[in-house]
Amino acid sequence: MILGSHVSFSSKQLLGSAKEAVSYGANAFMFYTGAPQNTMRKEIDKDLLEQAKEYMNEHGLSLSNVICHAPYIINLANKKDPVKWNFSISFLKQELSRCDELGVSFIVLHPGSAVGLSKNEALENISEALNLILENHYSCKILLETMAGKGTECGSNLEEIKFLYEKTNKRVGVCLDTCHLHDSGVSLKEFDSYLEAFDKEIGLKEIGCIHINDSKNVLGSHKDRHANIGYGTIGFDVLLSILYHEKLKNVVKILETPYVGEHIDAKEKIYPPYRFEILMIKEKVFDENLLSHIVNYYKNTK
Ligand code: FE
Ligand code: FE
Ligand code: ZN
Repeated sequence: MILGSHVSFSSKQLLGSAKEAVSYGANAFMFYTGAPQNTMRKEIDKDLLEQAKEYMNEHGLSLSNVICHAPYIINLANKKDPVKWNFSISFLKQELSRCDELGVSFIVLHPGSAVGLSKNEALENISEALNLILENHYSCKILLETMAGKGTECGSNLEEIKFLYEKTNKRVGVCLDTCHLHDSGVSLKEFDSYLEAFDKEIGLKEIGCIHINDSKNVLGSHKDRHANIGYGTIGFDVLLSILYHEKLKNVVKILETPYVGEHIDAKEKIYPPYRFEILMIKEKVFDENLLSHIVNYYKNTK
């Protein structure tokens, strides 16, 4: 299984990310090139990149299992403010160049939010923007993420994803997110019928990544709040069936589950759950005390 989590890029860029992934026992990872909510970015450091590649080699990590995530403030859907829209386009081009420099093969993108526009206008704007971006040639491929349908989010059903896929002449791929699918109204107990429909409309080979998250909300809530694996409304067994799905064997799987907290003197300290969630997935047995194990582990290693 190709399994990892979201990791930080801020300490030593890809080298820091790779080390964090190894500390979780992961063989894949996903990072943002800077803070997800802004577009301030540092140049790629060539020395660190060489060190990262060496480190990854030594630890059996392949760049083909590394995913970048575009910042979520860029919005290709809204052309009402042309300055912002053009900025989103040029920023995404820069991200793609950075990914090519790093040798990363996929960048996950939230398609965008319609805000004051109709869904149709928004979808047209997104495809226009993507086509402008794809006038340049990049090795890194854009994966459109399936969204929960919070607010005016585009890409919260198969039709919209298919529309964007076709409008870009099938030059983009897809990143499934289990929490988003569930929150958008897809019952993951019937995941096989979703996959069948996906295969018919788009094709399974276009799935470049799957975000594996449980959900804090009920089916179809359009909320998008991630829960730890087995601690939400999707449940451990359903998530396992997706993780171990024969047809998705070679797809990179990334956990974006929340950090686990502990209250000390009215302050909260939080710890990454990934090392333990990965172990639990590999052992295929749900641990109902997982969250306290995580807190105890990090408390005692400090
Ligand atoms: Fe995302
Ligand atoms: Fe996601
Ligand atoms: Zn989400």
